[in-house]
Amino acid sequence: MEQTVAEISSLLQQFDLGMVDGQTSKDHGAKDPVSMRVQSARSLFAALRNKHSPTAAHGLRVALGCSSWAVALGLERPFRDELEIAALLHDIGKLGAPDRLLHKPGVLAPDEAKVMDQYRLAGLEILADCGMSRTILEINRHSAGWYNGSRPNYPLVADTIPAGSRILAIVDAFDSMTSEQVYRRAMSRERALHELYSHAGTQFDPDLVQLFSEMQVAVQSPLMTVGHWLLSLDPNPATRQGRSLAAAAQLADAAPPELLFQQKLLDNMYDAVIFVDSNMNIIQWNRGTERLTGIAASSVIHRSWSPALIGMRDQQTGALNAIECPVAYCINTGVQSLRRLLVANRNNRPIAVDVHMIPVVSQDGATHGATMILHDASPEASLEERCQNLHERATKDPLTQVANRAEFDRTHDLFINAHLDRQLPCSLIMCDIDHFKSINDTYGHQAGDEVLRFFGHFLASECRPGDLVARYGGEEFVMLCADCNNAGAARRAEQMRKTISELSHAVLNQSAMTVSFGVTEIQPGDTPDSMLRRADRALLEAKRMGRNLVVQLGDGLGDFAEIATREAMPVSDKSELFIEKSVVTAVPLNLAIEKLRGFVLDHNAEILAIKADRLELLIAADRDRPGRRRSDRPIPFLVELSLSEHRVPAAAAEGRTPAQIARTRVMVAIRLKRARDRRNADVLEQAGGILAAIKSYLMAVDETEPLKASNGRRAANLSTLWLKSR
Ligand code: GH3
Ligand code: MG
Ligand code: MG
Repeated sequence: MEQTVAEISSLLQQFDLGMVDGQTSKDHGAKDPVSMRVQSARSLFAALRNKHSPTAAHGLRVALGCSSWAVALGLERPFRDELEIAALLHDIGKLGAPDRLLHKPGVLAPDEAKVMDQYRLAGLEILADCGMSRTILEINRHSAGWYNGSRPNYPLVADTIPAGSRILAIVDAFDSMTSEQVYRRAMSRERALHELYSHAGTQFDPDLVQLFSEMQVAVQSPLMTVGHWLLSLDPNPATRQGRSLAAAAQLADAAPPELLFQQKLLDNMYDAVIFVDSNMNIIQWNRGTERLTGIAASSVIHRSWSPALIGMRDQQTGALNAIECPVAYCINTGVQSLRRLLVANRNNRPIAVDVHMIPVVSQDGATHGATMILHDASPEASLEERCQNLHERATKDPLTQVANRAEFDRTHDLFINAHLDRQLPCSLIMCDIDHFKSINDTYGHQAGDEVLRFFGHFLASECRPGDLVARYGGEEFVMLCADCNNAGAARRAEQMRKTISELSHAVLNQSAMTVSFGVTEIQPGDTPDSMLRRADRALLEAKRMGRNLVVQLGDGLGDFAEIATREAMPVSDKSELFIEKSVVTAVPLNLAIEKLRGFVLDHNAEILAIKADRLELLIAADRDRPGRRRSDRPIPFLVELSLSEHRVPAAAAEGRTPAQIARTRVMVAIRLKRARDRRNADVLEQAGGILAAIKSYLMAVDETEPLKASNGRRAANLSTLWLKSR
């Protein structure tokens, strides 16, 4: 921590001397326009952080994303500098926006969105008054426009929109989609990329979407040089989120022990705890509240409290009005209360809770707010309690005292089932210490063992109730994250990666080690095995990309609708052909192939042939769907996939030429290898699972309107494409 402070203050000094990031101004006395602009940007950013810190944090992430992308695109330095500032301050207009709108716990109504748009314009004035360049102003003026020119008040179209605006629009949307919002959970990175493709040519520049997707692969950390001024704006992200115990331990000098104790207690409590201040703003939203409501703390902190936010209502009389709100009542009267109410859980189902309200009053009698404790009073046994028992039964690895591999394999199945039963997401983090062999070689085997013990202990300390950590082999560990989606698990992994890379060890002569992480969430059509393989593939990718990285793969469960509805299957009665279905995905052919490659690897399929536009696979693995008993023997399936890319016109504003965008159609045919398996009771279920998995890897939907076959490009070169893509 001290080191970070020292780094930041030395950076700040460099700013004053105008020599940031290797650039030295010729005259230390007279600041050049660039460093003046950086200085103004820092001040505006500080003001925005005070006004509404979630907006500022979003601006910083978007700026880091734009900067990394600009480097990858090989854009010139002066342009990059201006793009960074434009991105950092793209929401600066919110400085003037009323708190009522900024803190609104939900989607803005159309008229409210219109008001918010006015503040966008105000933002441009602020930037102009602070002496920002014309380029910066132009980037921000047009970044909310649509590529096809269809957004009212944004007259520019296609390439006439400044390149910086088109870049910013994509990074801005990607960050919003992959961050938690009050009204929806964060999307997986693959899902968010898919959304960009779906709106390419209409909202976004289709060529830039393609380039963005190629650059993304799945990198979580920005590609930035140490000492870049944007990095210094981040006041220690690992500790700011306030969840990492190790990070908290590092802060021990700074924070009084009772604060740490309170935070730890709150985070590990099963009950939901919410603190609302006297202005009705939400200040505390513990992990138990996230679990109960499905709403992430990061998306509600500093927003206004209202009973509707968590669907709170009376069992008999229904919705609670403002006067009946237990929080308002508690703050106004200073009276404690206990009452049985209903709240909506993450699947919008009512759940009975005992609501205990405690006013927070200081000695002078002033009310500072109210603490609300929600105790789940529903009769079902909690998932966490069930998983906790699994955890305690775990057979331990003697060296590290975490579960061993055999226990993990046994538990993984049960863990997935418990989540699917409750319609909750769960994720798997697989991690491996980087260059561990050289740790052994350099410091000796005993030091290696010590590092393993430390790492096992560290992972266990990062567990939340219901999670499970196991040593999977050598220096490879897995963590099952209960009730956690791809985005959440990746955020946790990134926090762990960062914390580990900053801790030095006596046995390593005070140097630090690094760890690579692969993250994935359960998704439709998965088996425990395919989930594990996908996490492993993500980990390998992190190693390949240079280690000390987090890579996230997979679409995730999404809104769960897909898995809940049984596929209506056109079953042919006389042949072995079980399923024939045409599906479409918003991505171009080469990316569809890339995704199918993942499917082939994770589902252990054998490639029988790659012909012209067709791929033939044999899937003979034990396709035990979670929740099913293990069948006597695996049923082998032949899967035939025919691919074709179509260029279709994107929707365009009237009188404008539409952009042409690529869509890939995939015909899926699933057959039994042996006709006699037709009588096997599991066969429909298993074939359906294969189709669900293929659709989920491709993020494809059933074809409703036929794509024009005339402009279809048959994938005649499938074999070359297959071999070419990585
Ligand atoms: P990478 O970054 O690619 O993961 O490189 P690495 O050196 O970490 O990976 P590699 O798989 O080549 O080496 C793993 C080493 O871990 C080899 C093995 O001797 C060592 N190892 C496995 N189990 C133990 C153990 O219980 N104690 C110690 N000290 N070393 C172990
Ligand atoms: Mg290793
Ligand atoms: Mg290894």
